[in-house]
Amino acid sequence: MGSPDVTPASPADSEESRRYNRIRLWLGIADFVLGFVFLVALLATSWSASLRDLAYRGSFQHYSIAVFFYVFLLLVIAKLLGSALDYYGFRVEHQFQMSNQTMRSWLWDEAKGFLLALVMATIVTELLYFIIRQFPEYWWLITWATFMVLFIGLAQIAPVILFPIFYKFEPLDNEDLKQRLVRLSERAGTRVRGVYKWNLSEKSKKANAALTGLGSTRRIILADTLLDNYSADEIEAVLAHELGHHVHGHILKSIGVQAGITLFGFWAANAVLHYAIDKQHMFETLSDFANLPLLVLVSTILSFLLMPALNAYSRFNERQADRYAFRSISTVEPFISSMNKLADQNLAERAPSRWVEWFFHSHPAISKRVEAAKSWEQKPATTHA
Ligand SMILES: [Zn+2]
Repeated sequence: MGSPDVTPASPADSEESRRYNRIRLWLGIADFVLGFVFLVALLATSWSASLRDLAYRGSFQHYSIAVFFYVFLLLVIAKLLGSALDYYGFRVEHQFQMSNQTMRSWLWDEAKGFLLALVMATIVTELLYFIIRQFPEYWWLITWATFMVLFIGLAQIAPVILFPIFYKFEPLDNEDLKQRLVRLSERAGTRVRGVYKWNLSEKSKKANAALTGLGSTRRIILADTLLDNYSADEIEAVLAHELGHHVHGHILKSIGVQAGITLFGFWAANAVLHYAIDKQHMFETLSDFANLPLLVLVSTILSFLLMPALNAYSRFNERQADRYAFRSISTVEPFISSMNKLADQNLAERAPSRWVEWFFHSHPAISKRVEAAKSWEQKPATTHA
């Protein structure tokens, strides 16, 4: 679909950027469909049960070791099935000159990513079936509470333990920028624990920035690709936006929203599991871990159905952070120029088709963000509060 709502303020999207985003969209859809078909196939055939039996044999009938083998087998098969798409994704980034990453470094990242997924999936699944065996009636509630604690812990350690597995970070050494951040923070009546330079350039040509962590690990990260190519005013505008997320407590609010959805998800998973066991006789017991694909399927379907709502919520937060930025910087010009630079550098579509934005995008279209900045500037100052 075309993009009839491109404003004259933003340059029109190039054919290249439209093609790049179309390919990435279809890659994402293909990846989702593949995962979905894999889960359905595991359940509709006897494959999940065969894998469980294999895991039992490999572990000499030890339940917890069998759970680990089963998770390991599932992840290996899923990785192999998805490897062609993963490789194609890597090629596309190079084809559009978005990536600097060598094949070797990419393969290393893939290996690390797989190991990390295996560790996390093992912890989560072992806990899940342990709780199911101990508390068959209220397993869903107890698992939910346990996972929320894990999730909050993960958000806390992510910037110091998980991200450094893939990228190098160092404290920002630019005095001028630090001073600007201190001034911005003081105006916000808050304190950000640190600003870090994110060495993104060794792998990517894109620029990015984010607010990450919780509590003592909460920090703003700025890609070196941004620090090196944007003016101090533009970086300040980006910082102000990230600070807006902080001031509005977006990380905690998002965790709260996730907690509500996850609670509903576990309740639904329990209902579906009982239906599969009592009515369909697909599994003998709750603790038969061959039912894991069914639990994953419930969460996959739920995430898919909720994607537009969650993205709408995220876009709401992004607009709020943008308005915070408009208030905190002296003029919106650097915000607008940083948006346009980001669109060019990341080959982002300034005006994606409406349904793509509605369903898939966590950020408002850049053309809309620029438009909002312009109308902000035109409003009389008294209405800005
Ligand atoms: Zn943001």
